[in-house]
Amino acid sequence: MSSPKRPLLICAGLTAMVAALSGSQLAGAAERSAPPAPAAAPQQQARESVIKDVVLAVHGGAGSLPRGSLTPEQEKAYRDGLTRAVQAGYALVKDGKPVLDAVEKAVNVLEDDPNFNAGKGAVFNTDAEHELDAAIMNGKDLRSGAVAGVHNTKNPISLARAVMEKSPHVLMAGRGADQFALRNGFAYTTQDYFWTQKRWDQLLAAKGRAGARSPAHTEVGGTVGAVAVDRSRDVATATSTGGLTNKQVGRIGDSPIVGAGTYANNRTVAISCTGTGEVFIRGTAAHDISALIEYARRPVEKAAAEVITKKITALGATGAAIALTPRGDLATPHSTKGVINAYVTRDGKIVTRIYDDETPAT
Ligand code: ASP
Repeated sequence: MSSPKRPLLICAGLTAMVAALSGSQLAGAAERSAPPAPAAAPQQQARESVIKDVVLAVHGGAGSLPRGSLTPEQEKAYRDGLTRAVQAGYALVKDGKPVLDAVEKAVNVLEDDPNFNAGKGAVFNTDAEHELDAAIMNGKDLRSGAVAGVHNTKNPISLARAVMEKSPHVLMAGRGADQFALRNGFAYTTQDYFWTQKRWDQLLAAKGRAGARSPAHTEVGGTVGAVAVDRSRDVATATSTGGLTNKQVGRIGDSPIVGAGTYANNRTVAISCTGTGEVFIRGTAAHDISALIEYARRPVEKAAAEVITKKITALGATGAAIALTPRGDLATPHSTKGVINAYVTRDGKIVTRIYDDETPAT
């Protein structure tokens, strides 16, 4: 069986062109009066960019969102949603709350936002249902909780945390996960809560049905994730998703698989991935990034770029990740044209990046 393809697959050559373009744009902005640099240098810089002193970062999916593709209202809705998520998580870190609280809360905000493919706004499977996947992980002790194929829980990431804290297990799926939710006091949420016109149109388009409205304005997957670090240098991560549009009933992606789409370890890095889940599972993407840092002593930006832009693309898929070290170094590699993301630095400054040209290409 061939692996499902994302709507937007770009070839390696085009990726390199985008990387080169962004590299020279960056260099142009930073060194306008300097003599021209050798062609390879700025590209290298863009490929391995790292942002310092980050406390918390979120992503809203890999894909492509070119400038001009959103109305001013849509752009504001994306930026406001990301900002609310980052603010909610940052406030908890500042208050000295566990870093797990921060990533859970940031993801809750994005799960409740209909623009993203998690919780409200999740994509549909082949049977026009929503099956939700999520995982959370604590870097200090490698504790983790995950749920897959959940039908009736508004905030799957909170259920994943309950699996971690209130059961002896790590991953619960389907009917058992839904029952576990009810037994642990999660309100029953009917499937229609998750419905949005945009995702319905995407399902009809994927099925080639007549009557589908014009394709949605965005080709971003919309999976959400958060990574954070506190003053003790404890890291944590959380990822939540509806998966892929028109996925087979029962299909589970990389997001709830520890080491594939989600991983955190205080010795190395906290990571949340987005992209074609089947390939991220086969490539053990998130753990590979951590392993390159732990065993090969690579800096986070090199480790993350190696896995996301080389290994995963060689296996036939595109995608992205956010990776945050205990020192506050953030890498955001992507082999798609863009990745929706935002971060806050120690001084409280929030940056939202939604368009393809806002996050350096890798
Ligand atoms: N990784 C997700 C999955 O395969 C989808 C995505 O990130 O767009 O379920």
